[in-house]
Formats: sequence, structure tokens, C-alpha cells
Amino acid sequence: MTNLLDVKDLKMHFPVRRGVMQRVTGQVKAVDGVSFAIKPGETLGLVGESGCGKTTVGRSILRLLDPTAGSVMFDGTDVLAADRGELRALRRNMQIIFQDPYASLNPRMSVADIVGEGLKVHGLVKGRRAVQERVADLLTKVRLDPSYVNRYPHEFSGGQRQRIGIARAVSLNPKFIVCDEAVSALDVSIQAQIINLLMDLRDELGLSYLFVAHDLSVVRHISHRVAVMYLGKIVETASTKTLFEAPMHPYTKALLSAVPVANPTTKKERVPLTGDVPSPLSPPSGCAFHTRCPAVMDKCKVETPPVRDVGDGHTYVCHLEAG
Ligand code: SF4
Repeated sequence: MTNLLDVKDLKMHFPVRRGVMQRVTGQVKAVDGVSFAIKPGETLGLVGESGCGKTTVGRSILRLLDPTAGSVMFDGTDVLAADRGELRALRRNMQIIFQDPYASLNPRMSVADIVGEGLKVHGLVKGRRAVQERVADLLTKVRLDPSYVNRYPHEFSGGQRQRIGIARAVSLNPKFIVCDEAVSALDVSIQAQIINLLMDLRDELGLSYLFVAHDLSVVRHISHRVAVMYLGKIVETASTKTLFEAPMHPYTKALLSAVPVANPTTKKERVPLTGDVPSPLSPPSGCAFHTRCPAVMDKCKVETPPVRDVGDGHTYVCHLEAG
């Protein structure tokens, strides 16, 4: 099957300026050579601690940020070279659901205006009544009462607000949605409901997702494949089953250690993750994870680790060999 989204060697470097002259004194390599692909109907989980660059990847793909280098092909269109007209068409097909359902909805706009804004901008539905009817349909789709169309964001709970954000994202019948920490701000029980809703919508509408989260347990049920990021780079990619059952990279193993097991009698190797993520302004030499890796060797401090291919789409970046 052809890929819907193809991201190659994506880089997003932010200049660091200092002094009265605002001279550039360094670069924060927030995203530093990230590649992956997503097929129609597929969900890729993108996981890592905060500051690893995963949110920047999501925003760069949508051109909410202008990446420094790389290529992003979406459904045959070169996203990074798209002019205003092409971008407008792309925006119909590429949407985003933000993390904070409190901050991402304008408190002065009614639900009809929030969810119906895109429909009006793209001229898909004309007239107030028609917009209200379409928004009511969309509310039903996200399992909210359609009579809520004239209410305002403050009248809803966090989970309900996120459903409004989802209704807004699917309003234009997109093919692809970046879910940017879309459930991170919600209680665990609500998280499960929203993830189930996103999975149902994916099947019903044929959507593909890039599901960005810092918590591996959150991406497990929704993702077909998972990519793990550390300091601007992907360090391991595998099918969700393989990543959870046979992780190879020490960082993935450490992240998995923090995931609670359903059966408390299940034995699990614990690899505590110590220390903070180093500054992307001056990342460690060699393998960027060497300052925190329990398996660190001398060469890890000086040599860039190779990409190792375990087969079946499972790759990891490390000096440790498989097996
Ligand atoms: Fe650890 Fe070395 Fe592998 Fe990096 S290359 S993850 S430091 S073993």
C-alpha cells in the first residue's frame, strides 16, 4: 500500500540569540533527522519525554512551523514546498487535536462557531442554519448531545471539550490528524474514552493518525506502530506488539519500565531512568543517551551508534547488537 505520509530526514533547528546585537550563538536541534511513513488508516505513536522534539515533529509536518530541512510528502503533495493555495487544500486533509482542551477553544465562541469555522472558511456549508445542523451531526459523531451547539467552552468538562476539539478536527473530512498529547491533560478514565472514540472515528472515517504522547501506555491501544524519540532523533521503531514485547533500545526499555503491568504477578525487568533529558543546545557526544544509559560502553561516548535492522520494520539505533 502506498504511504499517505512520507517524512524524510526532517530537521527543525532553532537559532539561539544572545546579547544586545542578538547574535546567533548556537542552535537548538529540536528535531534532527527524523524519518518515518504512515499508511492510510494507520496510526503511528510517537513517544518520548518532554523536550525530545515530538511535538515539533507534529507541527512541522503540518507547516505550523517551517522546518529547517527534510521532506514531507502527503498524498502526493510536497508539503514543505506548498504555496498558499496548496497549503489551504492540505489543511483540509491534515488536521490537529491539541493537548489542552481548556486553552485550545476560544472561550468567546460558541460550539457552533468553533466546530463550524472550518466549514465556513472552506465554503463547504453555507448559511447559519446549515452550519448549525452540520455541527449538531458532528457533535453526535463525537458522542456529545447535539443540543450543545449554542453552548460555550466553559460549560463543558475537560473530556467534553476534547470531544469538541475532535469534532472541529474531523469537520472537514480530513485524511490525517496529528493528535498532539491529545489525552495527556485528562483523567485516566476519560483518556480511555477519548482513545476509544479516536479509534472508532479512525475506522469509520478511514483516518490516519500521528499520535504524539509522552506515555507509552497511552499509545499502546491506538497505535499500529510506535516510534520512540530521544533528543530530536528516533531511536527505535517497531510494531506496537514488538516494541512492548521485545524492545531493543535501552531507552525504550527504560520507558517501558514505567508502564504499569495489568497482572501484578507478571515479572518485569525494571530499568530505572535516572536524570533529566540533557539540553538539546549541547547534546552529549556519541550516543545522546549515554549520560543516562545503564548499558553505556566507552565507545558510546564518542561514536555515533549505527541503525540496526531487526527485520519486519523493527529498527533501533545503538552500539548493542541484537540477540
Ligand atoms: Fe546505551 Fe550505548 Fe546503546 Fe547509547 S549506544 S543506548 S549509550 S548502549
